[in-house]
Amino acid sequence: MTDFKRDGSHLASYPPVEKWDDWVEYDPEAWPRRVQKHYQLVPTICFNCESACGLLAYVDKETGQVTKFEGNPKHPASRGRLCAKGPATITQIHDPDRILYPMKRSGPRGGGKWTRTSWDEVLETFGARIRKAFQENRGEEVMYHVGRPGHDFIMERTLQAWGIDGHNSHTNVCSSSARLGYLLWHYADRPSPDHANARFILLLSAHLESGHYFNPHAQRIIEGKMAGAKLAVMDPRLSNTASMADYWMPSYPGTEAAVLLAMAMVILKENRFDARFVKNWTNWEELEVDGFSARGQSFESLIEALKRHYAKFTPEFAEKESGVKAEIIVQTAREIATAGSRFASHLWRGSASGNLGGWQSARALMLLHVLTGSVGTPGGHNLNAWNKFVPRPYKNPPPQKRWNELLYPQEWPLCTHEMSPLLPHFLKEGRGRIEAYFTRVFNPVWTYPDGFSWIEMLRDEEKVGLHAALTPTWSETAWFADYVLPMGFSSERHDLMSQESYAGKWIGFRQPVLRVLQERAGKKIDYTYQANPGEVWEEDEFWINLSWAIDPDGKMGIRQWFESPYRPGQKLTVDEYYGWMFENSVPGLPEAAAKEGLKPLEYMRKYGAYEVTTDVHRLNEKPVVHADLSGSKVEANGVVTKAGKAVGVMVDGEAVVGYNTPSRKLELFSKTMADWKWPEFALPEYYRSHIHVSAQAASMGKPAEDSESDSDPDFDKRYMPLVEWPKDANGEVYTLLPIFRLPHLIHTRSGNSKFLYEIAHKNPLWVNPEDAKKLGDIRTGDLIKVHTEIGFFVLHAWITEGLAPGVVACSHHMGRWRLNKDDQLERMSSAWVDLKEVGKGQWKMRQTSGVEPYETTDPDTKRVWWSDAGVHQNLTFPVHPDPITGMHCWHQMVRVERASADDRYGDIFVDTNLSFAVYQRWKALTRPAPGPGGLRRPLWIPRVHRPEEAAFYIDTSVEGKKA
Ligand code: SF4
Repeated sequence: MTDFKRDGSHLASYPPVEKWDDWVEYDPEAWPRRVQKHYQLVPTICFNCESACGLLAYVDKETGQVTKFEGNPKHPASRGRLCAKGPATITQIHDPDRILYPMKRSGPRGGGKWTRTSWDEVLETFGARIRKAFQENRGEEVMYHVGRPGHDFIMERTLQAWGIDGHNSHTNVCSSSARLGYLLWHYADRPSPDHANARFILLLSAHLESGHYFNPHAQRIIEGKMAGAKLAVMDPRLSNTASMADYWMPSYPGTEAAVLLAMAMVILKENRFDARFVKNWTNWEELEVDGFSARGQSFESLIEALKRHYAKFTPEFAEKESGVKAEIIVQTAREIATAGSRFASHLWRGSASGNLGGWQSARALMLLHVLTGSVGTPGGHNLNAWNKFVPRPYKNPPPQKRWNELLYPQEWPLCTHEMSPLLPHFLKEGRGRIEAYFTRVFNPVWTYPDGFSWIEMLRDEEKVGLHAALTPTWSETAWFADYVLPMGFSSERHDLMSQESYAGKWIGFRQPVLRVLQERAGKKIDYTYQANPGEVWEEDEFWINLSWAIDPDGKMGIRQWFESPYRPGQKLTVDEYYGWMFENSVPGLPEAAAKEGLKPLEYMRKYGAYEVTTDVHRLNEKPVVHADLSGSKVEANGVVTKAGKAVGVMVDGEAVVGYNTPSRKLELFSKTMADWKWPEFALPEYYRSHIHVSAQAASMGKPAEDSESDSDPDFDKRYMPLVEWPKDANGEVYTLLPIFRLPHLIHTRSGNSKFLYEIAHKNPLWVNPEDAKKLGDIRTGDLIKVHTEIGFFVLHAWITEGLAPGVVACSHHMGRWRLNKDDQLERMSSAWVDLKEVGKGQWKMRQTSGVEPYETTDPDTKRVWWSDAGVHQNLTFPVHPDPITGMHCWHQMVRVERASADDRYGDIFVDTNLSFAVYQRWKALTRPAPGPGGLRRPLWIPRVHRPEEAAFYIDTSVEGKKA
């Protein structure tokens, strides 16, 4: 059997570190002659997804150019291996169309005219605008909005140094739904499964081929499988992941929680749960349900209450809801029980992100972990915070005093992240404006639903005063910016990263390869753009310099946070920022470096990564440290407090740290949900999504095919007004799955990668043969028209049995477009389109031409052989903010019909007046703050860039009185 080792030594061949300074290979272009080429190999970190795998840049010593990227065997998470997107970085850095210099618009916004400008002018312009906003107490008008962060902590530090609540993210179109399900259990909002040591692995969606932490997790899932673990995949699509599984469970979208709760019932009824774990590590004594209160009752009576409460979740009921066979549900439940503490699972997007109430998939999945005692165990479910390490810099600003209601409005007090998909609607409602807007590696016009509402917002200079797109590539959003600021790819920037990839903790250091080599050669480089292609910069130095531009004399108190820890009053350098952390904040790193006679920064520049620890299991069982115990007291519920703050919990007579929840235990019963107006969801539950078949029927005025016994009595009143088709609506109603990833594409950043686009460039609509027949004998390749609530899109059909009847699917990666023919967007991935606003808020897009070969300095652009750029479906989606998590619920009802003679491939129509109306209908489902004590949000729930506590209170913080 293959021996997998963390140091990569199991790989058959990779350059040993001692040869990285002069690595010799034969020149492939000289073949069959054997001509030697000499390379310097420099480690860095991939930036093409969140996984942060280790790259090795091969720099040709003769030309000084990076010629390829391979895996860094010294990286503990990726272990020398990469997915297709890692090596493809080479095509991105050498893309002849890339942005090389800062650009400023020279005509109307969105007009596509640009002139080159200097970094000094950019800093001066933004510095002055932001300074004025701060001086006029308009801090909330400065907003940073990020797509792919690619770093840890530095932006939190920067924005808090500015004293503003200005961080916006993409998380509410991504993962916030699953996060709530997890954090209600254990505060940590992400899972970190120990796949490699598991006996049974359950994946909800296509995690093995394209999931979160894709390559590091995929390696370990296969490692687990090779060691005998069984794999089950719950996914409506026959994905490549499902094809590798022992069990494929093609659940009807949105019904996953019903299946998971039925599995839990099998384990409960067959008494195969870990009673000791449930008794010791859940807050079962707080449970109140169906008139039963566990307080003062026996543990056995709690189990009986749970069995009564979940009695409805028979395998047969779950089969009826989901389509997954009852016997498969029973069989997998038994396998999970057998795996016990070695049961691992993963859920991130898919069912959680697609559905109204999708967060319950995570809550129900965690119930299986709790019943099997597989929390914190080898081969089980770990907390992300236990497997991720974020070192702290030399000094940090205090939390901001402000609360920005454009980010965390009162309607969604339990949203885990900013309500960013609703920003255009918030501005339309007059909730605020933005003076200075930074979009960073972020393309909402294309990635988000309702892109035309974003265009309407971005082109309005009243609503958005000044917009800079910080981006390594052109994007549809950059087109509507005032400044387009080129930022580096993986080998052109500094960042520090850590992810929960396996049962361990590590840090990875991204570094600008050409700068590192020039500095090794003795050249003095002040700023990374001096070494990068053109004047491509990096964000770290940009934010340091912008902070100095905002507060040049230090009187605003901002500059102090960006001064050197070693040279008082002098501007901080990146070497100093990271060097200090490596010396002082990473346990064991200084010693490891000293062993090699290196400084910690030199060590990280040499190896690119460092494993901090592998002692990561059962951290909840660690004893409370002695210093915290002295002067502490034990509350009635067993929580150990000191000076009013919880420091641990009593378990088996011992004070242990527990979890960061109010009960310090895993919260089977969420008092938070009850206190915050959702008492019906205090326990893990299943409720029907907005795309449930009964909602589909109702949307077309047909009776739901439901029997009395399994209908959801609250369903009608909660959701029925959500979809309003036009009176003359025709076509069949389906559920559209629009968010599955392709393993070799990056949301919008692969558009300039010829390797990746040559592999895939189409996104047809998956249609089951039964449905194809119903739709008039549609064949693969036929044009088909998909109506959403706010418009339509036209694309080709792909007839496949890899999807259940009643469901259609389309990958979200394709459909890039550009408004001019020859410049400023990746021509190998985008269609040239004609975009017209034909009425107020009514937008029509038609493709003028698809992808064509074109002339550049790269001869390959003349060899582009594909013409399809796909269809941009997201433009036609309205926002669907889940009333609890705020997550955009991507799955949606659509009407599908054969395209008419007037329709052309790629046609799109949208009415943003309708999208605003859909937003209003979803907003009406919320149960707004205040919660207990006048709070905007529970104090214990994490918040990105957390303000000071006073800002959590509605009546005092809006005007900043208490603050
Ligand atoms: S999984 Fe692929 S894209 Fe993501 S960091 Fe690793 S190599 Fe890069």
